[in-house]
Amino acid sequence: MDPNNDEKSLAEKNIFDAIAQEDLTEFKNILAQHKGKVDFFDENGMTALQHAAYKGNKDMVQLLLDRGADVNCGRHEYNYTALHFGALSGNSEVCKLLLDAGAKPTTTNSVGRSAAQMAAFVGNHHTVATINNFLPRSEIAYYSIVQGTQTEPSLPAFLVDPLHKFVLGVNIHPVRLALNLQHMQSLLENAEKVSKVLELLCKKEMTRGGDTNEVMAFKYHYLSYIVRELHNIKEKQKPSSSDKEDKKHDIVEIFAKKLLKPGKDGYSLDLMDTFLKDCVREFPYRECTTFHQMVSALTSKDPPTALSVINCTINGQRGFVDTVSYCSTCGEEKPAKKCSKCKSVQYCDRECQRLHWFVHKKACNRESSAPAQTSNSKLNIDASELSAELQNLVAG
Ligand SMILES: [Zn+2]
Ligand SMILES: [Zn+2]
Repeated sequence: MDPNNDEKSLAEKNIFDAIAQEDLTEFKNILAQHKGKVDFFDENGMTALQHAAYKGNKDMVQLLLDRGADVNCGRHEYNYTALHFGALSGNSEVCKLLLDAGAKPTTTNSVGRSAAQMAAFVGNHHTVATINNFLPRSEIAYYSIVQGTQTEPSLPAFLVDPLHKFVLGVNIHPVRLALNLQHMQSLLENAEKVSKVLELLCKKEMTRGGDTNEVMAFKYHYLSYIVRELHNIKEKQKPSSSDKEDKKHDIVEIFAKKLLKPGKDGYSLDLMDTFLKDCVREFPYRECTTFHQMVSALTSKDPPTALSVINCTINGQRGFVDTVSYCSTCGEEKPAKKCSKCKSVQYCDRECQRLHWFVHKKACNRESSAPAQTSNSKLNIDASELSAELQNLVAG
């Protein structure tokens, strides 16, 4: 008997149990002892990668991909791919790993559904958006190579990865994008090049013939618009502050304060709405369906906010949103923290709470005089502590 075969069958037998039980230690042991290919199949023609994706287990998916697991292989009777299973699991990070590894988002199963359609079918909206917003790194890397008569590329090579990451983001709330850019200083420092490349990507999407992706084109235009606005704020700030660290902070804060400032009624974000409507108006491809849909939504009798129109355009129509909670600052879904004082608003973290405090402080004092609800203190951000800490910052 071939010892290799024996070893393989042992790994093949045990790895599916380890995945089923999500036993990562055992899973690693099996992989460590097994040499060679890791495209194991179970009795139904499902691969180990597909099982790990279905479990939504990011670590296991990563380990299998690191070992060269074939992301598009499988003999499942209904032609499900690893990406279909990842989409069903609802774990967007798993889907992202699979897409990065070359999973084809357009592959359909035997009933003609793509992975994103399966995710939508089971209500995994974030996963739908992750798959629909995906683009391979090579699309961005193209601009880091000298083209035609250029003497230097449109995009310096070191900006390829940050820009790719920025474009893949699913939360398109302008404050979230500004916060993301704050953590990718290189993009902000090269804002003019970055916004130019985003416009080039937009143009490229609109001139692909039959493969034109109007939604992605609009997304590029939108991102370019945000980057430019932050750049403009930075330019205006230039002569004043001498402390570099402070200045970085200021840009996002100025931007957030402008957009989050409530209008006359005390809650509608009129400035944000105007800012975003201008972005739609500046979209250069006015003949396309996407543009017409956005304009007709914005000019309808009881129009939704420009933010929700843009979000629907880029991330697709969604149902059942009433039950989901959002960060009051950046619109991130299911934020982890609450204002500890009033417990009536939620935030991603202290940074988001800080940026919103100038709006929330009045309401907070009102709300917190009402009887407090019980909740997990670990998840709360202490508003009184924060207000002291921020006295100087928010006083202006
Ligand atoms: Zn937030
Ligand atoms: Zn509060």
